[in-house]
Amino acid sequence: MTESMMIVTTLEELFHARRLLDGPLGLVPTMGYLHDGHISLVEQAKSECQSVIATIFVNPTQFGPSEDLSKYPRNLERDLHLLEAAGVDLVWLPTPEVMYPAGYQTWVDVETLTKPLEGAMRPGHFRGVTTIVAKLFNATRPDKAYFGQKDAQQAAVIRQMTRDLSYPLEIVICPTLREADGLAMSSRNSYLSLEQRQAATVLYRALSAAKKAFDGGEKDAEQLRQIVKDVIASEPLAQLQYVSCADYDALTELETVSGKALLSLVVFVGKTRLIDNLILA
Ligand code: AMP
Repeated sequence: MTESMMIVTTLEELFHARRLLDGPLGLVPTMGYLHDGHISLVEQAKSECQSVIATIFVNPTQFGPSEDLSKYPRNLERDLHLLEAAGVDLVWLPTPEVMYPAGYQTWVDVETLTKPLEGAMRPGHFRGVTTIVAKLFNATRPDKAYFGQKDAQQAAVIRQMTRDLSYPLEIVICPTLREADGLAMSSRNSYLSLEQRQAATVLYRALSAAKKAFDGGEKDAEQLRQIVKDVIASEPLAQLQYVSCADYDALTELETVSGKALLSLVVFVGKTRLIDNLILA
């Protein structure tokens, strides 16, 4: 624990500041525009580690050409206040030039787990995610790294990468923080108008209806997907992109839920793409 929060940008500054931190060290990677979900990751890291590094980097390589990179919400001053209040020791704010200097040409690709779901909808997305997370791991050398269950496939892909590349660190997956009406907290919720924000509650309502049926004995995956589809169809402002009921580890679609499963969906509310999931177990 250092006196006040250190803020660095370049690799040289990071390496210098990193040496001042006592272990074990926790890492919380973010794209900024922080909400309580991000802060819950920091709090878990604080409770388990001696020092905590948070990073804020809107990683260009995980956005597709038609996605919202330039519009992605930012409020650095507020983010830094929140991180300081949460007790973060070191914030790393790399620029795109720090992460991808001219001539950059090395990529990390997890082959199979990235094929379905988000990987199918967002080609190249996970290659950007795993590359940047590998670079964050290499530069900060944490003992534990914290990610949210809200991005369930991302969590699975990063766990796989960590195993495959023999990173000497533990991946900790933290529960999804929700607003009082069930909407999963997300930086992208700020895009929603008041009316759209109300409509967006349909994601959690749909997942909860299917989970209730599952808990009541429904194990047919197609029936569970259908329940989600029906609830989403009841909200005129919401458009389902996909619903999946998949094996929790392999992310392959199921016919029958027998072990741990991931029920996930993507819904457009206006132009805003919202994702959410619940675990069936
Ligand atoms: P992002 O800034 O969207 O890249 O998210 C940074 C980290 O926060 C990722 O590991 C996310 O999974 C996690 N996260 C985002 N939203 C939530 C939430 N509502 N609850 C818990 N973790 C979250």
